[in-house]
Amino acid sequence: MIEVMRNELSKWYQKHKRTLPWRSEPQPYFVWLSEIILQQTRVEQGLSYFNKFAEAYPNIEGLAKADLDEVLKLWQGLGYYSRARNLHFAANQVMNEFEGKFPSTYDDILKLKGVGSYTAAAISSIAYNQPHAVVDGNVIRVITRLFGISESVNQSATLKKIQALADELLNELNPSEHNQAMMEFGALQCVPKNPNCEVCPLAIVCLARANGTVSGIPLKDKKIKRRARYFHYIIAINNGKVIISQRGTNDIWGGLFEFPLIENDSVDFLTPSQLESSFPISIKSLLKVHSEKKHVLSHQDIHANFYHLEIDNVNDEKLNLVALSDLHTFALPRLIDRYLENHDLISGENRH
Ligand code: SF4
Repeated sequence: MIEVMRNELSKWYQKHKRTLPWRSEPQPYFVWLSEIILQQTRVEQGLSYFNKFAEAYPNIEGLAKADLDEVLKLWQGLGYYSRARNLHFAANQVMNEFEGKFPSTYDDILKLKGVGSYTAAAISSIAYNQPHAVVDGNVIRVITRLFGISESVNQSATLKKIQALADELLNELNPSEHNQAMMEFGALQCVPKNPNCEVCPLAIVCLARANGTVSGIPLKDKKIKRRARYFHYIIAINNGKVIISQRGTNDIWGGLFEFPLIENDSVDFLTPSQLESSFPISIKSLLKVHSEKKHVLSHQDIHANFYHLEIDNVNDEKLNLVALSDLHTFALPRLIDRYLENHDLISGENRH
């Protein structure tokens, strides 16, 4: 049965695989770049980012030498910004610890920051054709359905079982193609909702299909509770400049720039004196306040208010003032970027 699965999968892949830039020439650097970008991101969205990065940094040396803020700016809009910071860090690791040559063994690849067992398996197999079976979300779905595994995939025992089956299924003659075929099959054929089993070449060996349990597999434990957060952004303008600050790295949007932020537990607008008591500013006029619609992240809902203020001269050196015309050069969270697309920075008036 395993042999049938491998062969059918390979035939299906040859016929249906998408043409993707990191596939035509699977250099380790580009495979790694694509794998980091595609963690938590769909191919359709990640592709333009891959192209931007490959063009700006055609080799690992260029990426290592780049300014981190520039890398974050290029990453803007993709989310999970620790991936961009790790990418930059790992490029420097390759330059310093591997003499500029991308590591070629699973164990060495695993030493790179931001690379876990899945990514190390993907790079070592796709770029170097080494026999490591990948198990990502797509592969989990394919395996659990093919083998009719109805236990929760949040349990580590279930994941171990899935990894063992993926190892068994791996075509050691061509691990590179096999792993890509498994992931592509999950992305295009054995999709999460209503897969078209009628046209599936693996239907004859699929236990979930035979048992009528496709829609319930893979089983996931109840969703984790979402967290609501309330952000109040102060757009404080003085003499053609605006105050910005850089976020720390241990929260969402780490390393990105934003306006001075007050976070509390209420969506209610703050009063001018509350704003003044939180930052060393003195308000000349309050031009506009806006409530944005909820910004949804994977586990958090951000409710944001924006306050457009004209302020007196700022004497505090800790506050970072930048020219309004330069603001677009900073990497901003999507929430702020989209807000600025829709509102005039100074008056707060809606552009549409
Ligand atoms: S028969 Fe359906 S559930 Fe089974 S592998 Fe094919 S698409 Fe997935």
